Amino acid sequence: PVGAEAGTEFLNAAAVLQTEHHPAELLKTLHEIEALFHRVRTLHWGPRTLDLDLILHGESEASSPRLVVPHPAMWYRRFVLEPAVEVAPQMVHPILNESVAQLYARLMCRPLRLEICSTHHNEESGLLYEVLSHVRDFGDAIELSPADPESSIATNSFARIIVRQGTKPKTLQPFNRKGREIEVVGESVPDIVSQLEDLRMAMLG
Ligand code: AMP
Repeated sequence: PVGAEAGTEFLNAAAVLQTEHHPAELLKTLHEIEALFHRVRTLHWGPRTLDLDLILHGESEASSPRLVVPHPAMWYRRFVLEPAVEVAPQMVHPILNESVAQLYARLMCRPLRLEICSTHHNEESGLLYEVLSHVRDFGDAIELSPADPESSIATNSFARIIVRQGTKPKTLQPFNRKGREIEVVGESVPDIVSQLEDLRMAMLG
């Protein structure tokens, strides 16, 4: 489980569906199925009996507060890609233009190269410095290096993490960003550090 309140261990699986439903209709059906499993939505990212996410829907893209497709975190979560590659290795992520098999292969590269930077605003470079001094040992599997926010991501980097201080957006899922960027928004240094630890866990599995 990723996140302090996610509960005990659970099983992950992926399924390929053939459907004529639009993404929003399909998500509604998925929620109905979750309800059949008596899922009570109390705590966001809290313990659940069943959690169904829509990972890809053909090559469609959707970006609304209720539905973001491709699922914005699918490309860096091992617990998503590992089962997905068993059933749909050839499906293509329409924004990153890579197949599920390619995304999985990239995620499994060691060391996993991550760039980290703050936004362009000068006052935030101090924040990044503080965050980096608090990030506990990320281990040998990840190589974390500071990057210049003005430059573009290096071709051999897996992802660029952009750290920003602010209130977390109300939407449940972040929107998809271009170019392998992951935005981490937090109210305080400990909040950002704990999100980075969750990210590490999600990537390495
Ligand atoms: P979670 O509790 O993490 O499953 O979050 C579910 C919420 O995220 C739902 O209220 C959905 O409306 C929203 N959501 C946005 N995009 C997706 C997606 N691709 N798959 C599942 N839920 C999504």
